Amino acid sequence: MLRRAKIVATVGPSSSDIKVLEKMIKAGLDVARVNMSHGTYEGHSEMIAKIRQASANVGKEVAILLDLQGPKIRVDKLPTPLVLQEDEEWVIAPSSKAANYPEYAGRLIPTIYENLVEDCHDGARILFDDGLMKAIAVSRDRDVYKIKIEVGGTLKSNKGINLPDCEVSAPAFTDKDRDDLMFGLKQQIDYIALSFVRKREDVMLVKSLLHKLRMNIPIISKIEKPQAIDAIDEIIKVSDAIMVARGDMGVEVGNHLVPSIQKLIINKCNAAMIPVITATQMLESMTENPTPTRAEASDVANAIWDGTDAVMLSGETAAGKWPVQTIKMMEEIVIEAERTPKERPFLRKMDLSNVNAAVMVAASMISEKVEGKFILSMTESGSSCRKISMFRPKTPVLGVTNSVGTARRMCLNWGVRPFQIHEYGRDDFNFQKDVVNKVKSAMGLQNGDKIVITRGDGKFFARGSSNSVKVEIIKDMPKVLGSSDVVEEASDYQKKIQLDTSICASCQNCISTCPHDIWGISPENEHQTIINKDKISACAMDMACVEACPTGAIEIMPLT
Ligand code: ATP
Ligand code: MG
Ligand code: MG
Repeated sequence: MLRRAKIVATVGPSSSDIKVLEKMIKAGLDVARVNMSHGTYEGHSEMIAKIRQASANVGKEVAILLDLQGPKIRVDKLPTPLVLQEDEEWVIAPSSKAANYPEYAGRLIPTIYENLVEDCHDGARILFDDGLMKAIAVSRDRDVYKIKIEVGGTLKSNKGINLPDCEVSAPAFTDKDRDDLMFGLKQQIDYIALSFVRKREDVMLVKSLLHKLRMNIPIISKIEKPQAIDAIDEIIKVSDAIMVARGDMGVEVGNHLVPSIQKLIINKCNAAMIPVITATQMLESMTENPTPTRAEASDVANAIWDGTDAVMLSGETAAGKWPVQTIKMMEEIVIEAERTPKERPFLRKMDLSNVNAAVMVAASMISEKVEGKFILSMTESGSSCRKISMFRPKTPVLGVTNSVGTARRMCLNWGVRPFQIHEYGRDDFNFQKDVVNKVKSAMGLQNGDKIVITRGDGKFFARGSSNSVKVEIIKDMPKVLGSSDVVEEASDYQKKIQLDTSICASCQNCISTCPHDIWGISPENEHQTIINKDKISACAMDMACVEACPTGAIEIMPLT
């Protein structure tokens, strides 16, 4: 049973061993997330190289998602963790200013965010470490803010700070993000995620930067700020995909609102036909334990039933004890959720607004009717595949492409499996034959199985213009090449026709399909099909006889 929804997993110290990465890929990892909030360029480029190598070793494509930190406010490096206790007074200040205030030494929380004191106001909540600790801003003293702890705890280096009551003035795309993006582009990453997007313009800025650089990398907007939830329709319009980033969202808007916001965003993305990833704490307890809680298993299944395209793991695979088991567990939960309830309608939309969409809907319906094993979507940019994925066809989709980038990007698309073709026949007929042959052996298809092929005309891999649907029945492909002693053969200057008499079933399908009497019956033996050699110049090479032959005994080769 093939899983349809995709698994995104964050890589980090727990998954830096290539053997572990291989196991994670085998267990179901589709998209590896590299979080630029942590680590070094050196570490990240090593990690990316290892992911590529592990993917090659396993023989399965994996997309790499570069997650840009955005204006994440964090605690700076601390020599030792700080113990914050209820009702204590502390101060918070940018690290660059901390040295000017020796009077606060010992009770100063340093932050990497330069504008924190400017952005803050009296009475505002200041939350630490995903909201585990809470303080209230009391009053400003020059470059520091005095705060009172309401909920205490132990505060460690680099932990996040949230200011849900303040307008954060930092831009959504910081200087660090720009550097990180340039780093990622050099590493040929497949997706970019933008953190703390607040409005449409935040996405447009990065889009136009990529445009100037002539890079076509899809942008995933992470929805985690209240402002982004308010502007969700506008953000969806300009984003290639959306992430429901429940961690910071929960801290900013309150956890009680997260489930309904998740459903709302997934519905909107489904309607807009862009992929959506549900993220954060999906199997959180597996960071420590080899099994998840019932609630976590239900959370993953419910995200699938909500209609998410992908589910994501964070600390579980980046810093947890059980990275491989977590992916296996997620795979099992997703497969079971997709299997139930049985009557769930799969083809969920009937967009007939343009030729491409209509062709994809038709392919999905035809395949469902004829019980096709796969829909083969021939694609260069992957856009046809993305479209068909959005209709949620019952039949698994093979995204057949000659581009490695396209194949990798498909790893995020619901129900799509990339199928990269490196070499293929030089003309149209041979191309189709090659692809079907490769799919047949790679996917273990049997004679008589049906597949549905969608493609554009003209080039094999057309850009966003699939306009034909074809049902192909798997049968043996011509095998005659090379088996010379049992071959009937005829040629003229244009072509060579061969018939392998040892496998010919004498069904006479070739005789009945050919309008030019090229095929006949041997005068000596009525069970022996022969080539009428004097007729072969009439052959139009339309391959009708080759297609009609059930055993693959006929081969026609152009000699040009
Ligand atoms: P975000 O808000 O972007 O999700 P995060 O701090 O929650 O940031 P995750 O990507 O969710 O980070 O990863 C969970 C944990 O895994 C991090 O808190 C960090 O401890 C660890 N981690 C992730 N990537 C790395 C890395 N490259 N190097 C070191 N530790 C990492
Ligand atoms: Mg985040
Ligand atoms: Mg996180």
